Amino acid sequence: MSFDYDLFVIGGGSGGVRAARVAAAGGAKVALAEEDRYGGTCVIRGCVPKKLMVFASEYSGMVEDAQAYGWDIQAGEFNWDSFKGKLHAELDRLEGIYRNILKNNGVETFDLRAKVADAHTVELADGTKKTAKHILLAMGGRPVWPDMPGSELGISSNEIFHLDKLPEDILIIGGGYIACEFAGIMNGLGVKTTQYYRGAQILRGFDEEARGLVAEEMRQRGVDLHCGTNILEMRKEGEKIWVKATNGEERLFDQVMFATGRTPNTENMGLEEVGVSLGRKGQIEVDEYSQTGVPSIYAIGDVTDRVNLTPVAIREGMAFVETVFKGNPTPVDHELIPTAIFTQPEMGTIGMSEEDARDQEPIEVYATSFKPMQQAFAGRAERVLMKLIVSQATRKVLGCHIVAPGAGEMIQLAGIAVKMGATKEDFDRTVAVHPTMSEELVTMKEPVRTA
Ligand code: NDP
Repeated sequence: MSFDYDLFVIGGGSGGVRAARVAAAGGAKVALAEEDRYGGTCVIRGCVPKKLMVFASEYSGMVEDAQAYGWDIQAGEFNWDSFKGKLHAELDRLEGIYRNILKNNGVETFDLRAKVADAHTVELADGTKKTAKHILLAMGGRPVWPDMPGSELGISSNEIFHLDKLPEDILIIGGGYIACEFAGIMNGLGVKTTQYYRGAQILRGFDEEARGLVAEEMRQRGVDLHCGTNILEMRKEGEKIWVKATNGEERLFDQVMFATGRTPNTENMGLEEVGVSLGRKGQIEVDEYSQTGVPSIYAIGDVTDRVNLTPVAIREGMAFVETVFKGNPTPVDHELIPTAIFTQPEMGTIGMSEEDARDQEPIEVYATSFKPMQQAFAGRAERVLMKLIVSQATRKVLGCHIVAPGAGEMIQLAGIAVKMGATKEDFDRTVAVHPTMSEELVTMKEPVRTA
């Protein structure tokens, strides 16, 4: 049977574009459909604009620090319009790069929504049908809105990059990556920031000591963080949004942002009709090779809700190409993935939290929390944390958790050692780089506790 294409990819985000490009570069005839902008969540409405906003927001504290270091400078105003213009010009530039990557590799693109019609057929929104030997689903995910009176008055991380003006005050709902990152961003940009999280402590699932320090530092920097609090109701009151919280408070905010999780884009895609199974959260169920129950259909990235991170989606895309187009079956390795949360200060983490590790086996915990030199000199009370979780039996470092400015950069490097299976003694054999914050990772002599 002959097909129009060897591969049809649905979704032009990081995972889909990488798989399309690599398959095409290897000689496959490839097409890709994208209904929105090329680059997907990460480039257009996620990691990239978020990180640029983190950078913008961090300058607010720098003037005071510079003064403490002897500079005679004064803070001015942050100009949202000027930043926003540059931000979107940069996103346009990046989208152009994504489009060019596809074009230069001979991938045919359709700027249309596509759905699956059968195991080898994709139907585009204009009604045309295309056949392919393999279909790769990479549609990503989108924010979920809580079901609550007035919730349509709020915004999500999709809209935050497009505000006409910065609000005077904002309420952020949620305690995950996105809520905590934007609480830091908004606070840094001078917006009076309140955050409600329904659980006992933000960043559920991460090491307790590390997330405790992030929460403490966020409060110290001015985020009005309320744990154990959610909202019940919202309504418009003049120019403001009236909010009633579970703690009985009724308050007015300029803006309310929901960061209450994300859901895979799998509705109305014809998936279950052709035999692709969906899980409880709507995610596409795949095996270790990203293959669905329909042998010709694969899925990668957030649409599978495995580990929802850009570099993981890219790896899943590469493993798919290796498996399907290079005759080299390659399962995706989801173990020991380093990650950073761009809170202020950042949190970098790899491996197990202390709590998970001690449930698994006897451990030693090495941890130190201190005022870093640069900030202490400037008179800031800020503290950082360096922490290693070590197996008593194998001496392997099971987890590394860092809360500090630049923790994302640090964990990338510490992550190599942990991924290689380094022991505590391997860390100890490494000479400290002095004076740095991360030198503590190789100089901690005695465990602070065993469990
Ligand atoms: P998360 O799933 O991490 O967090 C969702 C938060 O919203 C949780 O605190 C959750 O509470 C809360 N929540 C869920 N439903 C409700 C509700 N109805 N009312 C009130 N609160 C609610 O999702 P995010 O949207 O923050 O991020 C999605 C994913 O994107 C992350 O898991 C991560 O994989 C990725 N990401 C990665 C980043 C990075 O690498 N730096 C940055 C941003 C996103 P509870 O804990 O009680 O369930």
